[in-house]
Amino acid sequence: MAGGRCECGGVSYVVDGDLRPVSNCHCSRCRRFTGHHMAATGARTEQVHFASESTLRWYSPEPAVAYGFCSQCGSSLFWRTTARPDWLSICAGTLDQPTGLVTDSAWWMVEHADYHKRAPGLCEFPYDG
Ligand SMILES: [Zn+2]
Ligand SMILES: [Zn+2]
Repeated sequence: MAGGRCECGGVSYVVDGDLRPVSNCHCSRCRRFTGHHMAATGARTEQVHFASESTLRWYSPEPAVAYGFCSQCGSSLFWRTTARPDWLSICAGTLDQPTGLVTDSAWWMVEHADYHKRAPGLCEFPYDG
C-alpha cells in the first residue's frame, strides 16, 4: 500500500492498488504547474483514499482537465481528465519513499524545456503517450 502527501500534510492519501510506472509529461501546462515537468504515476480513482484533503484544490485550464494542488503549501499533487473519470494521475514526488516505481516514458517531448536533459532509456512520444 503506497501513501503520499503534500509538503504541509493538508492533503494525504493512500493507494490500495497497483501504481503504474512513472511517465514524464513535458507539455507546457505540466511544465508550469509543476515547475519543471510532470512525473506522474496513477491509480484507479476508487483505489485512492484521502486521510486528509482539507486544502486540496483543483485548477481547470479547460473543462475536461484539472490539476490538483495544495492551497496551503502549493504542492502539485494530481491530474485528472473527464475522458478517463476512473483514473487519477498522481505526482510521483508526493509519494512516500521508497516507491519501488520506475520511469518508463516521456510525453509531449515537442514542448520540453530547452534546459531539459533527456534521459536515456525512456520511451519518448512527441505528444500523448
Ligand atoms: Zn500542503
Ligand atoms: Zn502535460
